[in-house]
Amino acid sequence: MGFVNALHYWKAIFERKMKPLCIHTEAVMVDEVWEIIKQKSKEGKIHIWNIMTPENYEYFKSSFNVKLSKEELSAKMKERYLWMKNHGEKLELHIHFSIIMNMSLVEQEKLIKNSIDWMKNELEVTPKEIVCGWWCFNEDTLKLLKKYNLKLVKFRDYNSEHDYEWVFNPKL
Ligand SMILES: [Zn+2]
Repeated sequence: MGFVNALHYWKAIFERKMKPLCIHTEAVMVDEVWEIIKQKSKEGKIHIWNIMTPENYEYFKSSFNVKLSKEELSAKMKERYLWMKNHGEKLELHIHFSIIMNMSLVEQEKLIKNSIDWMKNELEVTPKEIVCGWWCFNEDTLKLLKKYNLKLVKFRDYNSEHDYEWVFNPKL
């Protein structure tokens, strides 16, 4: 990387740090993480919580060793997200398409539609924005986001952190 490029890079990183902080909320079901979420909510510094829904059930099982059934997990997530909503937190969407290169338009649509429906039915929240897991999406995703009226959040739009980072590396 040349000197000028390096300057542009660090400028972009610095500018992103100055933007409102959004949390990619993935591990609300983990009690240790939940305690920190409540604490952060009380401090009132989080602009948006981009939340995952039980539709990403397989992801939670592999990432956080979740042993609950999908129904039990849904109930727990609902209870905790409603607490956040009732404490004035703004909730938007976060979906992991995981193996996006192998995920058909039909599979992606099912995940998007079911996630929106879950937020509407269980939380009475209609999401307007989405952060795609690992910033991964393709042309099909873009078509679907248009169809479901979701604005795609890009890496530079906000500053962001993952909720689970607070537990496994609290120094960050
Ligand atoms: Zn994520």
